Amino acid sequence: MTLVEASVIARVETGGPALPQERRLVTAIPGPRSQELLARKADAVAAGVGTTIPVAVVAAGGGVVVDADGNSLIDLGSGIAVTGVGNAHPRVVEAVVAQLAAFTHTCFTVAPYEGYVAVAERLNALTPGDHAKRSALFNSGAEAVENAVKIARRFTGRQAVVAFDHAYHGRTNLTMGLTAKNIPYKSGFGPFAPEVYRAPMSYPLRDGGLTGSEAAARAITQIEKQVGAENLAAILIEPIQGEGGFIVPAPGFLPALADWARANDVVFIADEVQTGFARTGAWFASEHEGLVPDLVVTAKGIAGGLPLSAVTGRADIMDAAMPGGLGGTYGGNPLACAAALATIDAYEHDGLIERAQRIGDLLHDRLGRLAADDPRIGEVRGRGAMVAIELVDPETGAPDAALTAKVVAHAHANGVVLLNCGTYGNVIRFLPPLTIPDELLLDGLGVIADGLAAA
Ligand SMILES: *Cc1c(COP(=O)(O)O)cnc(C)c1O
Repeated sequence: MTLVEASVIARVETGGPALPQERRLVTAIPGPRSQELLARKADAVAAGVGTTIPVAVVAAGGGVVVDADGNSLIDLGSGIAVTGVGNAHPRVVEAVVAQLAAFTHTCFTVAPYEGYVAVAERLNALTPGDHAKRSALFNSGAEAVENAVKIARRFTGRQAVVAFDHAYHGRTNLTMGLTAKNIPYKSGFGPFAPEVYRAPMSYPLRDGGLTGSEAAARAITQIEKQVGAENLAAILIEPIQGEGGFIVPAPGFLPALADWARANDVVFIADEVQTGFARTGAWFASEHEGLVPDLVVTAKGIAGGLPLSAVTGRADIMDAAMPGGLGGTYGGNPLACAAALATIDAYEHDGLIERAQRIGDLLHDRLGRLAADDPRIGEVRGRGAMVAIELVDPETGAPDAALTAKVVAHAHANGVVLLNCGTYGNVIRFLPPLTIPDELLLDGLGVIADGLAAA
């Protein structure tokens, strides 16, 4: 029996995360079996497909990831904010197995099925605002962002799209153009799609302390002078930027942009791919400022690890595309829809919105105490279980990517799956599964404190 089979059987028999919730290293990272896989990867997989931590995963659940050498690592990444309900959540496993036995695919646009419609109904009810809504389902975050732009253009009859400094929206052609960071996402991959314009973000640590309304006025002036509302289909923004550095805009920035968009018949699109689904201590990050976007893009946390994404929004906008204009072979695949319905149930039944708030309190408390004694931590920021520290040179405030890399390497070597981010590569982000036990989270934070002390 392989380790994978053993873990699957253990999971099915116990009906829950059978994996011990502990950090346990039995080899160096990577161990011999992981090294074997990495050598095969180097021979077989394109170099452009990078990896963060050099392990061969065989099982994951609760707050741990287990590798082929028997090491149990603390998961502070959730596969980039995907497994909010925890890996292989029993409800998700059960729902997907049942769907698998019933049918695997018909293509919804050929022969429809209930799961897709039910996911759309749930999304229409859960996303901010109680107006009439529609949803369309896709496979990846980038694909959903592209479709949100298509829909906004069709509805407005305009072409321009505004995205922001530090934005990340994906790696397909249109979304590369919307994404801000050159290396590794864009360099050499052009030409990019036309009619994409960039506006300045509110970034309290680095924009001289502009208030939300000042930062919004700056962005709006630039949009009016350089694009013109009459040409603008949509403003696309992450309510808290993810890859760009967990940047939380100053209060008032997002509502001011949304108000301007409404007044100018510009579609306001919230990219909640990373912030969505309980992660920030609310269903969606837009809720923290009472924001009601015209369209909401979701993916990552939506389906417990199965590939699914969505655009949800105002019925009049969503219905602007003609039949056949939206869709794709796999969009809203029945297995992914079954997983999404079970995942949304799990967020509710397991109280994971409250859990995200509690994790946020714990992270802010511990990291805040670290920062009080360590001027290299320029800021602790974020909401709920989406928190980051930005590492800087204490003298100048300049980003310290080298220190960040050292701390992340220390975490990996000591059994913690940890991600960095940020335009300047100097932000460490915390995105634990919401099912992680407190003790495990605290242990992981201890490793990071040690890494900072050692660096
Ligand atoms: C990850 C991400 C995307 C892209 O999603 P994929 O599923 O990787 O295509 C888009 N927007 C945001 C905010 C993201 O974090």
